[in-house]
Amino acid sequence: MRKPIIAGNWKMNNDIFETEKLMNTLLPLVAGAEAEVVFCPTYLGLQKAVEMAKNSNVGIGAQNMHFEKNGAFTGEISGEMLQAVGVKYVLIGHSERREYFNETDETVNKKAIKALTLGITPIVCCGETLEERESGKAEAKVVGQMEAGLKGIEDITKVVVAYEPIWAIGTGKTASKEEANEACGWVRQTIAKMFGEDAAQKVRVQYGGSVNPENIKDLMAMDNIDGALVGGASLKPTFSEIAKF
Ligand code: PEP
Repeated sequence: MRKPIIAGNWKMNNDIFETEKLMNTLLPLVAGAEAEVVFCPTYLGLQKAVEMAKNSNVGIGAQNMHFEKNGAFTGEISGEMLQAVGVKYVLIGHSERREYFNETDETVNKKAIKALTLGITPIVCCGETLEERESGKAEAKVVGQMEAGLKGIEDITKVVVAYEPIWAIGTGKTASKEEANEACGWVRQTIAKMFGEDAAQKVRVQYGGSVNPENIKDLMAMDNIDGALVGGASLKPTFSEIAKF
């Protein structure tokens, strides 16, 4: 019922030439995937990536955006600017942005609402630290991030949520499929409380954190996991095995 969505977060990797090369490698490999497939290159690679992905099954996403249209925000890029180059998705509130760039639940909320008004699908990220998990606070953290990050959204069914436990990102340590499924369930239950059960059943919830070709099948077999947000493994040709799980 919910179409799976597999997104690659390329992070701060690949200059414009390497972006072109990776696009040339990956586009034919992911063609025919049944899941919705998204690549998120750096801002500088977006225009090229959008051009190259035209007539393919891949949508292009940005890794961040500002919620204002324009103005004195040195170094920032607005949603309108992303829209103008044909970007269809945007990652919002990735844990690296929260940790290193002062992203808060409040800015996540503003950005998600803004992206939706522009017809860009926000992929809103949430997830707990290792300390929070070990002290039994994971659920409260995820629920709190969702309540604050998603409030006031008009059509929640257009949002994608990525549950990414911080301790599993880039560490090679994946959450077990049961842990991942349980946490994606916390996301869905929170959405049900906020927006109703019907809407919650339509929202796609991804798992992210050291996803690779070996573990994707088991994760995707879980009832609350509708896709994956993939970092390191999205830079390799074998990303196609994840996209075609
Ligand atoms: C990410 O960057 O969102 C991520 C999940 O990274 P990795 O797959 O490398 O853990």
